[in-house]
Amino acid sequence: MPPLDGERRAELVRSLGALRARIADACIVARRDPHSVTLIAVTKTFPAVDVATLAVLGVGDVGENRDQEASAKVVEVAELLRTGADQRVAPPRWHFIGQLQSRKSRSVASYAHAVHSVDRLELVEQLAAGVTRAGRDRLDIFVQVSLDGDPARGGVPSDRVVALADAVVARSELRLRGVMGIAPLAVDPRAAFADLAAVAARLRAAHPEADAISAGMSADLEAAVVHGSTHVRVGSALLGRRDQDFG
Ligand SMILES: *Cc1c(COP(=O)(O)O)cnc(C)c1O
Repeated sequence: MPPLDGERRAELVRSLGALRARIADACIVARRDPHSVTLIAVTKTFPAVDVATLAVLGVGDVGENRDQEASAKVVEVAELLRTGADQRVAPPRWHFIGQLQSRKSRSVASYAHAVHSVDRLELVEQLAAGVTRAGRDRLDIFVQVSLDGDPARGGVPSDRVVALADAVVARSELRLRGVMGIAPLAVDPRAAFADLAAVAARLRAAHPEADAISAGMSADLEAAVVHGSTHVRVGSALLGRRDQDFG
């Protein structure tokens, strides 16, 4: 995998260092252990070689938001890491973070380590069926919470989170991890992430093991870490500007 030693690798080393420093600084402000925050590198629109390079640099978790793109990249990255110089590097864990169409859930269940965008019962059932069909271990599930009350952007209203979580827990193929949220554009992210933290606390009261919060992106990860995020999903601050942005 030649680009590993090229300019792009140096660029990724620099941006990864700067990003890790941002997360560490945010943890100091929040009085949190930096190990309590998992970085998910959002690699949508970027090539498989970038994912492989990040894996070699120690990034073990990557996020994608479209099944068609992700399912092809999973195969390419495994191949790059298998045939590349750094043979001991394990493939990353794939996190599906985008709105999920029901008909794609079987495919996603065949490669994803976690799905962060579960917002309806139908997905719970289809992802569980997909895990069985693929003969895989349990799939981690984050219930996506709507923080702007606009169902078009994905997410379940906060008063329906526990009921949906109950359905996840009822399926042995799935493991409930916690909640996921995206700060609405027009709102102060601190307010949005405080709301999400309150929803997360209510979920933990019902399901104590569901202690994860997937929140924070390039522009607002500091606010998310202050409000308890355990999984930040960062794309552009790490990989650069996206030419075609699928959201
Ligand atoms: C694209 C995307 C991200 C990353 O956004 P950046 O602003 O590039 O860091 C995070 N979460 C979701 C759900 C996304 O679709």
